[in-house]
Amino acid sequence: MSMCQIAFDLECADTNESFVVDSELVLKRNKQTASSQVDFVPEKIRELIDDNAIFYVSHSGGKDSQAMYCLLKEIIPPKQLVVVHAGLGDEVEWPGVLKHIKETTDHYVNVTEANKRFLEMVEKRGKWPSPAYRQCTSDLKRSPIFKFIRNDLKERRATIAVNCMGLRAQESSSRAKKAPFSYNQRESCNKRVVRHVYDWLPIFNFSTEEVFDTIHTAGQKPFWAYERNERLSCIFCIMGSVNDLRHGAEQHPKLYKKYVELEKKIGHTMFMKGKEPISLEDHVGIKVHA
Ligand code: SF4
Repeated sequence: MSMCQIAFDLECADTNESFVVDSELVLKRNKQTASSQVDFVPEKIRELIDDNAIFYVSHSGGKDSQAMYCLLKEIIPPKQLVVVHAGLGDEVEWPGVLKHIKETTDHYVNVTEANKRFLEMVEKRGKWPSPAYRQCTSDLKRSPIFKFIRNDLKERRATIAVNCMGLRAQESSSRAKKAPFSYNQRESCNKRVVRHVYDWLPIFNFSTEEVFDTIHTAGQKPFWAYERNERLSCIFCIMGSVNDLRHGAEQHPKLYKKYVELEKKIGHTMFMKGKEPISLEDHVGIKVHA
């Protein structure tokens, strides 16, 4: 076993499967040729392709999802690749994101919608989600996507799903600790219904520069907001940088006002300064006029 391999004994209650997960179980870019951007496809991924696994690309419209799709479409047979976008509704998402995904993918774009909206959810809880407890991601993105995957697998009479996400180690120290490939025990079952679900982070080791290079080499451009944004997500993301939040406030003053008013209404702020709460207006440095 090489140094970069981590033995993961993935025996669980519902499956007897046990295998070795390589910490380099990620794609590598080929910078030499223009014909293919992918230099290395992990063996486990080749096996899953041969086993007719369906690869679900979780596409947010952000640069990482876009780069991931550009690479996956090179190696996954078109019929085994499915694009899914977890819609948060035009109100909180950058408008035009869905159009951007459609314009930069060759596949049909499936859109999932949760049965609740972001701002409604916050108002009902009387609390904003936090980086440590991202209820928004789990309720509005992850759950609807896995529901879609379960139904889609069933319709296709397929039993293996690979949930592909554009998370990268460089983004944060908590993300750097994630396994780039893992068996998702919670979503898998091996009883009356047989379903094996894997989580895969194909561009886990990519730098930001490599992500933009991948998009440009594919002849595409990232979403326009990257002209000023570092990340693309909700316009006002609970994890957004001041730079991105300010850009959002300038582009979408009415929505900004709504967030500011909601903070006052529920008496809870989106951000903290050290251990003290800080209002969105003070955090961003833009006051809302009545
Ligand atoms: S983009 Fe930010 S605020 Fe929006 S759902 Fe994701 S973590 Fe939550």
